[in-house]
Amino acid sequence: MKRIILFGPPGAGKGTFSSQIKEVLPNIAHISTGDIFRENLKNETPLGLKAKGYMDKGELVPDDVVNDMMRDRLNKEDAKNNGFILDGFPRTLNQAKTLNKITDINFLLVLEVPEDIIIKRILGRYSCPNCGEIYNKYFMKPKKEGVCDKCNSSIKFEQRSDDNEETLKNRLNVYKENAKPIISHYKDKGKLKVINYENKLSLKEIKKILEL
Ligand code: AMP
Repeated sequence: MKRIILFGPPGAGKGTFSSQIKEVLPNIAHISTGDIFRENLKNETPLGLKAKGYMDKGELVPDDVVNDMMRDRLNKEDAKNNGFILDGFPRTLNQAKTLNKITDINFLLVLEVPEDIIIKRILGRYSCPNCGEIYNKYFMKPKKEGVCDKCNSSIKFEQRSDDNEETLKNRLNVYKENAKPIISHYKDKGKLKVINYENKLSLKEIKKILEL
């Protein structure tokens, strides 16, 4: 069973890397804190309303809110029995220390991507609201303009509201401020792996990284 943290700036490809891990480990739980918050926001739950102001500005939701949410999530059967990929958590040293108390992990995978590519990945990103397939106006447009390759719907594509230039600047700064102590923390534990993820990797390479 694998317990993996995916770490990297916004636009590093954590979502894509998670999908690739799911191809080799189909039962592993993919836990994305950003997705949980967005789902709560859509349903206007108290948690979603609490997170909204921070997300709009590209700031971090306070640690106590995130830590409580993750304690609950990681204690669910799927994560306990099948392992997990953490996508977007921990984002602060405090969150990493909380995670240590909840469960052990195999490694922290740091996805490294040059900043000019990150910016294009984020500002060019849009998705199909029907099936969630992600496209990019610079790198990966649908084959037929306005029609989703995956589900064939010609519904209007949507962009994340925090994928704009102003919020991105803040999200990148927040990442830079918090990344160093987290990376050192896992390096000291001998659990750090740094991966160049400018280009998508093959499943063979993914398996090697995961030590499968
Ligand atoms: P993401 O989809 O991972 O880019 O997350 C979107 C937004 O959700 C972030 O900009 C934060 O406002 C919030 N968020 C997600 N994960 C965390 C976390 N671990 N700690 C604090 N805020 C988070």
